[in-house]
Amino acid sequence: MPIRGNPVILSTKTIIQSEPKSEGVRLGSMRWVRRFSKLFAVFAVALLLFVVTGASDRLVFYARILKLYTQQPDSRLAMPLEEVRKKEISDTWQAARGEGRKHEGQDIFAPRGTPILSATSGYIYNIGENNLGGQTVSVISKGGRVYYYAHLDSYARGIKIGDRVTTRTVLGYVGTTGNAQGTPPHLHFGVYTSSGAINPLPMLTDRIPPTANRQENVNHRLRRSFL
Ligand SMILES: [Zn+2]
Repeated sequence: MPIRGNPVILSTKTIIQSEPKSEGVRLGSMRWVRRFSKLFAVFAVALLLFVVTGASDRLVFYARILKLYTQQPDSRLAMPLEEVRKKEISDTWQAARGEGRKHEGQDIFAPRGTPILSATSGYIYNIGENNLGGQTVSVISKGGRVYYYAHLDSYARGIKIGDRVTTRTVLGYVGTTGNAQGTPPHLHFGVYTSSGAINPLPMLTDRIPPTANRQENVNHRLRRSFL
């Protein structure tokens, strides 16, 4: 019996000795679990707020803009109105505009409702109305340059800030909103660098290929030969 009893005593001792330790470990791990679950709850709430408030979208947008700043600005811009040729634009850069104001862009005339295409790739930076520009859209592109489209009759359906655009994206339609009321419909096109406006005209390039002209001439000659 004593032989059988000893292990009992020993094991009891072992239990007595080891119990506070295991209890301590258990309490410690409980605290850790509680702390972790609290941390997890805070993280989950923050994540929920982040998604619900659109902060994640904003963060992605800011990251995209930051990347644009690292890129060289475009030296060539696609004509925002598809059918207009560069030679048809009369240069009004820095022309006097009353109250000491100078024209900070180019006016491109076209019938009301003509689609306005983005001159660059980039992201929609702003959509809004102001006294001078009327209904306007701004696109941010390489080098952090902002391309400003003003006097819009209406915006392209569904466009919103943060949308990615290419030179095939319609931003809106030619109109006379803002201080263009009473003038022939036109697009006011401006280019802004971090140090101010620059003249877009030297950078604009025709969308209509020069061959189109030749084709027109060919068609014309063909028509004449048939008459
Ligand atoms: Zn203008």
